[in-house]
Amino acid sequence: MHQKLISFSSCIECEIDLEFNMTHFYELNCSARTFAEGTEDNDFEGIVCPIEPRHRRAGRRVTDLHIDIVSKSIVDFSTTFIADVLITDKALNVLENAQLTGFIVKPVHIHKYRKGIDPAAVPKLWEFIVTGKGGHAHADSGIVVKSKCEACGRIRYSAYENGIIVDETTYDGSDFFTVTEYPKHILVNQRAKSVIEEHSLSNTQFIESSHLVWPEGVIKP
Ligand SMILES: [Zn+2]
Repeated sequence: MHQKLISFSSCIECEIDLEFNMTHFYELNCSARTFAEGTEDNDFEGIVCPIEPRHRRAGRRVTDLHIDIVSKSIVDFSTTFIADVLITDKALNVLENAQLTGFIVKPVHIHKYRKGIDPAAVPKLWEFIVTGKGGHAHADSGIVVKSKCEACGRIRYSAYENGIIVDETTYDGSDFFTVTEYPKHILVNQRAKSVIEEHSLSNTQFIESSHLVWPEGVIKP
């Protein structure tokens, strides 16, 4: 006897409904254009492992961000080579006026301007630090702990296999946030994306976080 089964995924109305009700999260990528480089004045906390010399590494920066301006095309969002994020004063005003949450800003110290750049033409800049918390990525992202050192706290995570899926049970609701495993990926909700797009803040690209693909040519950890 054959029974005709209608599977959940073949129910088009259900899918549309699911898609409509789903909360969307995006990665805010601002690495396409850069105009600043960190200088040697940036000082970092040093972490030394008591049992494994190879775990020695730089921790948090303990100074404000010091930069050189290396291009005259200043964009509203940008990153340095080691993924510190910079925003213009105009961008900060937009984010503050919209009362977006999940970030703080710190002063930036400019040391040098590359030849030909007029310092007066460079707007006030801020370091943009995301403070919103997404907790751990959802297990469906496929990220697993590859190694963990109890002595120094060094944790290595695997690549994401299905994008970075936000676990809404641990997400704190901030407009800007990161997940524990990939803190350099700035994640935003629909509200933050809309504000940034409505004000055409430059050098911002949004990719649905669950559609992120591991970058080609980068070896998976
Ligand atoms: Zn260690």
